[in-house]
Amino acid sequence: MTIETVDTLVVGAGQAGVALSEHLSSCGVPHLILERHRIAERWRSERWDSLVANGPAWHDRFPGMEFPDTDPDAFVSKEKVADYFVAYAEKIAAPIRCGVDVKEVQRIEGRPGFRVETSTGIIEAESVVAATGPFQRPVIPPIVSGDAPVMQMHSNSYRNPAHLPEGAVLVVGAGSSGVQIADELARAGRRVYLSVGPHDRPPRAYRGHDFCWWLGALGKWDIETPAAGAEHVTIAVSGARGGETIDFRRLAARGITLLGMARAYENGTLTFAPDLADNIARGDANYLSLLDEADAYAVRNGLDLPEEPSARAIGADPSCVTDPILQLDLADAGIGLIIWATGYAVDYSWLKVDAFDERGRPRHQRGVSVEPGLYFLGMPWQSRRGSSFIWGVWHDAKHLADRISTRRKYLAHHYASAKRESENA
Ligand SMILES: Cc1cc2nc3c(=O)[nH]c(=O)nc-3n(C[C@H](O)[C@H](O)[C@H](O)COP(=O)(O)OP(=O)(O)OC[C@H]3O[C@@H](n4cnc5c(N)ncnc54)[C@H](O)[C@@H]3O)c2cc1C
Repeated sequence: MTIETVDTLVVGAGQAGVALSEHLSSCGVPHLILERHRIAERWRSERWDSLVANGPAWHDRFPGMEFPDTDPDAFVSKEKVADYFVAYAEKIAAPIRCGVDVKEVQRIEGRPGFRVETSTGIIEAESVVAATGPFQRPVIPPIVSGDAPVMQMHSNSYRNPAHLPEGAVLVVGAGSSGVQIADELARAGRRVYLSVGPHDRPPRAYRGHDFCWWLGALGKWDIETPAAGAEHVTIAVSGARGGETIDFRRLAARGITLLGMARAYENGTLTFAPDLADNIARGDANYLSLLDEADAYAVRNGLDLPEEPSARAIGADPSCVTDPILQLDLADAGIGLIIWATGYAVDYSWLKVDAFDERGRPRHQRGVSVEPGLYFLGMPWQSRRGSSFIWGVWHDAKHLADRISTRRKYLAHHYASAKRESENA
């Protein structure tokens, strides 16, 4: 069997793989990217039809290229995002091989490098980068068993209201996915229940700037480690319909019944924690604190931005918040479907190396694994809050390319010295 050799093998051609290719080329590192589907596949086939980017076009992109023929303040469609990365890969001549699944990676004993088993053959590489995404495996909490008389799906599989069976829908999870899906279903005339956990909900825009700008100006995208407990706090934002602040009171006014965190299920009845009012209040506090920080920043830096006192108006809590439902008989409520918008996990089971902690999380420093020659890219909080987002991964990729290039120099020095010694022997 022929064994192909490459210097650096990148697994995955989403935005992370494309960004890394640009930086590896700049550093002169020969590399190959393997992608099991198509470039930026998840944007095409693992998102719902109407999804647009959460950040405006001027922000959610790489520095080297703008979205063509696009208003910089627009929120581009998911297809346009995927097209952007295809065009970017072409522009930088990224060496991407699509349709190749990486099945297993093992360390080569006795010398640096890895043996990579793929769907099309064996490759040996000095370095391997796992750029397989921050959101790989949909997670559904074990609350309602699979044989319960209600259909269940993850938000990953949701496409549009017309694809769903008739009847009311319970959406669990009020991060960006859950609120957008619940809103879309309500607008399509569905009866919708939305289970709301702890969340942040920044203003879509304030005093003339989008929240992406404010998070950048306030240094919040660069926060290096999540505040205690904040790792699990989801952020509820939306670029839908030109972008609007997520306001749970407005969703309730549209007919969506808000519920606390889904807790347990028995005999057709779901139980909810009595935490809805707290979760809403916490989201409000997060929202107002960003307005405070933005105002202080504007004063301190002498920014002449239009005042926006109306942004501080928080309406009265709707009855579903003041008098929350704690138990819901799904059949009585006409709910035939639960959509779990409950997030994702990573899956590195194909990496057969000693580089993970007891919970299966990579042991690494800014993506540089404890296993020499192995790297991770695109993980949530890899180096900062922005790491798993389009603009953030580009900066992490730059760091990794630099580390890979530096390690190559050390190895090259070793091989050159060894060669000299053997020639002199
Ligand atoms: C609903 C949703 C909306 C989002 N919206 C935004 C947004 O608006 N703005 C933003 O900045 N971020 C957004 N994100 C976050 C992030 O930008 C995306 O998740 C993005 O897809 C991550 O890119 P990636 O390259 O790191 O990973 P992925 O896009 O997941 O790419 C990894 C690639 O690796 C391939 N792969 C995996 N395993 C293997 C293997 N073993 N062999 C070969 N190939 C493999 C996959 O097919 C995939 O193409 C969103 C995320 C979600 C879930």
